[in-house]
Amino acid sequence: MSEAPKALPKFEHPPIDTHFHPWTKTEWKSARSLRLVLDSYLYHRQFTEQDLTDKSPTEDQMAALYRKLGVVGMPVGWNTKTHTGDTPTTNDYIANLCKTYPDVFIAGWACVDPLDLKTALKEAERAITKLNLIGFKFQQASQGFKINDPKYAPLWKLINDMKVPVQLHGGYTGVGTGVPGSQGIKIYLNRPYPDMEDIAVDYPNIKLFVLHVGDPWVTEFAALARHGGNVYRECSGMWPRYWPGEMWYELNRRLTDKYVWGTDYPLFDLEALLIEHLTCKDPKGEKGYREGIVEKVLWKNAIEILKDDFKRVGVNLSRWGVK
Ligand SMILES: [Zn+2]
Repeated sequence: MSEAPKALPKFEHPPIDTHFHPWTKTEWKSARSLRLVLDSYLYHRQFTEQDLTDKSPTEDQMAALYRKLGVVGMPVGWNTKTHTGDTPTTNDYIANLCKTYPDVFIAGWACVDPLDLKTALKEAERAITKLNLIGFKFQQASQGFKINDPKYAPLWKLINDMKVPVQLHGGYTGVGTGVPGSQGIKIYLNRPYPDMEDIAVDYPNIKLFVLHVGDPWVTEFAALARHGGNVYRECSGMWPRYWPGEMWYELNRRLTDKYVWGTDYPLFDLEALLIEHLTCKDPKGEKGYREGIVEKVLWKNAIEILKDDFKRVGVNLSRWGVK
């Protein structure tokens, strides 16, 4: 990897962080039981509730950071109520964040609790038609949500009828890592086959974004995204320097139009991550970006794939050269 730049360049077109968690001083508690274990795993030390509150940003600080770096973000909701008992980060909160900081938080993803299906159906419709959110995010393992269980078909039918995009967690999650019984978190719920393929094939109006590197199914996710015209990839959750070779191979070749940027901020340092993306270069495309690819991942692909969805929720795309 080449030397990190002293300061970030001034971006002509803002990078689009399609996936971050607005885990502020209050909202980190929507993942309270999971964060206490997750942060200890990520940072190799024990965290208390007070530590997590102290290190979490306020809404203003979060917006100021995105503004300072010249990046825009798409906050995601969080609702694991039935599975973990934690109080959700509501869809109203996400919608408000986008209303309050429209220059940096351009559109938000709703989250509903599929295990409480009756409420989820009503809330899913409200999130799109009344709150003007762009689509849905699910974290299947944290939500205890087996996506292709036939009992959830009404939810998928509704989302398919509304023609809005969905983010699904792909593969490994730090959540539940290292404790006996993994806090009840089962990674198989994040698998590509047959679960995600069932959704991608049966509900073709849904653009499906598979989040994260996706181990232990990196190859399978690449196949899913190559095969499914409505399946896309996102790359948060692991520093690019650690991405497996097969991911770099596909991202630089057959999947150049399919990858979008996401950060999982604040679990990852936004500035350091952005610098790493900009400096992780490799002309051969084996351990870094080939010429011209990082721009596609940072913003071009998101605009191309989500253009109509951004327009539906009223995002002004002139900053990315779109009328
Ligand atoms: Zn996430």
